[in-house]
Amino acid sequence: MEHNGILEKDIDKAAELILSAKYVVALTGAGMSVESGIRPFRGPDGLWTERGEPPMDGFRRFMSDPKSGWEKLLTGELYPTELVEAFFNAKPNPGHHALAELESLGILKYLITQNVDNLHRDAGNKNVAEIHGNIRKLRCIDCNTRFPIEEISLAELPPRCPKCKGMVKTDGVMFGEPIPQDVLRICQQETDKCDCMLTAGTTALIYPAAGFPQEVSHKGGMLIEVDPYVTALTPMCTVSLRGKGGDVLPVLVEHIKVRMNK
Ligand code: ZN
Repeated sequence: MEHNGILEKDIDKAAELILSAKYVVALTGAGMSVESGIRPFRGPDGLWTERGEPPMDGFRRFMSDPKSGWEKLLTGELYPTELVEAFFNAKPNPGHHALAELESLGILKYLITQNVDNLHRDAGNKNVAEIHGNIRKLRCIDCNTRFPIEEISLAELPPRCPKCKGMVKTDGVMFGEPIPQDVLRICQQETDKCDCMLTAGTTALIYPAAGFPQEVSHKGGMLIEVDPYVTALTPMCTVSLRGKGGDVLPVLVEHIKVRMNK
């Protein structure tokens, strides 16, 4: 039997593996957000493929003159307005809701995402590590505290941290900016515990995210991927489910619930 072209038996196999695992962690990337109307940066339909990659030293430029960097942010000079609007208007899709349900069932222990759009949290996931930050937050570069944008006064630029007076920037990780150590530490801890990683909508080419499923595979754990295309991870996967997250993940979670008698 097929479901949207995906073999039912593969989905059921994935459900069985997930239920046999002790510690399931999900890793998601840009493909997950496409169905919510957010264009990917890379790949054939990518924003950067169309417009050219932004400067690779964005962080250095910002830090060399934070006041001017902030002004460019606020006037829309730094990021295309259509991109920022797409981020703020986006709503979670059925794939996000399925992963949130998997967490509420007690099966998904943690979710690592490369996405900055907050859609996993909007869907209800609580245990989320955002490798590249969150577009709806600001972050103090000294103490790493994150703040909702509306909590920080932008009357003076650059804004200052209410806790330590350090400089506040966007939480989104800029080109050339190190991934915040606290997030990396969580990703590493969760990968160490993980014996089954479910990847969705990530080409697994961009580090550090690409390294986590490889580590799980190398220590003998299971990899299950959900993606319309063959990825760099495919050769390592126990099961590959070809399709969009919004189509595949809800069916997968239904199969898991049937097996749990829920
Ligand atoms: Zn601070």
